[in-house]
Amino acid sequence: MFEATLAGSLPKPAWLAETDKLWPQWRASGEELQQAKRDATLLWLKAQEDAGLDIVTEGEQSRQHFVHGFLEAVNGIDFEHKVEMGIRGDRYKAMVPQVIGPLSLRGRVHAMEAQFARAHTTKKLKFTLPGPMTIADTVADRYYGDKVKMAMAFADLLNQEARALQADGVDIIQFDEPAFNVFLEDVPQWGIAALEKAAAGLTCTTAVHICYGYGIKANIDWKGSLGEEWRQYEKIFPAIAKSSIKQVSLECYHSHVPPHPMALLQGKDVLVGVIDVASDEVETPEQVADTIGLALQYVPKERLFACTNCGMAPMKREIAVRKLAAIAQGAALARQRYG
Ligand code: ZN
Repeated sequence: MFEATLAGSLPKPAWLAETDKLWPQWRASGEELQQAKRDATLLWLKAQEDAGLDIVTEGEQSRQHFVHGFLEAVNGIDFEHKVEMGIRGDRYKAMVPQVIGPLSLRGRVHAMEAQFARAHTTKKLKFTLPGPMTIADTVADRYYGDKVKMAMAFADLLNQEARALQADGVDIIQFDEPAFNVFLEDVPQWGIAALEKAAAGLTCTTAVHICYGYGIKANIDWKGSLGEEWRQYEKIFPAIAKSSIKQVSLECYHSHVPPHPMALLQGKDVLVGVIDVASDEVETPEQVADTIGLALQYVPKERLFACTNCGMAPMKREIAVRKLAAIAQGAALARQRYG
């Protein structure tokens, strides 16, 4: 009951990459960089275990960005000539690579970090991948001329990597789809189909994470424009409830999202965001337990997990460590209160 976990990413140590950035530059190259990535992965596995989390991740220590980390292993993408593009409905400008030919995988994408993480923890291991709709929204298409066709091509590649991650011993594969909260009409029309294509044939637990983004300025400004209550979830959750994906990771604490749409996710495990990733103020166990109590009005206790609202990549390292502990301590308190 109330297993403690996190959305996925964790801050990179200063010796691995630039800090406080969403697209940080690496501090090393070649074999030295590979070693630094493994060291950072080990550090975070230990920190998550010490914090008392039940389900851990490799913290995305081996990828520069949660979308581009996958794209770096894909043929048909020009990374040399990035172009500026408005993404997530033009919420912010990003330098994105261009799709210039048919997409295929050059080989494994995340084998090193997945196998390394598996070898160094006996906890349940979650691995995150970007969802197909979110990838399609984070590249400039110069080849397919059709967003859906391109997203489906990415879904095929994601599926190849996901099956291999499962074979590596990963327990949970999560697709991150922040774009689901932006392109609401597209979710039932093709977003779910693309997601299910990415997850096809998996026998491990599957999850989708849908959020309002990291705590960066462009997101905070965008959130300010969404009004008092953010009603995106209730428009897309009915379609997600009908899908084969087993878990849904969502925002809750300090978010303007009303909690009642969680009730639309019948039959799903719900990973409730009990940690605000846009604030350096560390939640108390009582606050975490209160959020779990609120979610219990809509989610049965055997399906409720305590999680972060989103990834913690751009956060200060020491704050992230304390927030991880708050999740586990708050979940323990909630088990006493509501168990
Ligand atoms: Zn997120």
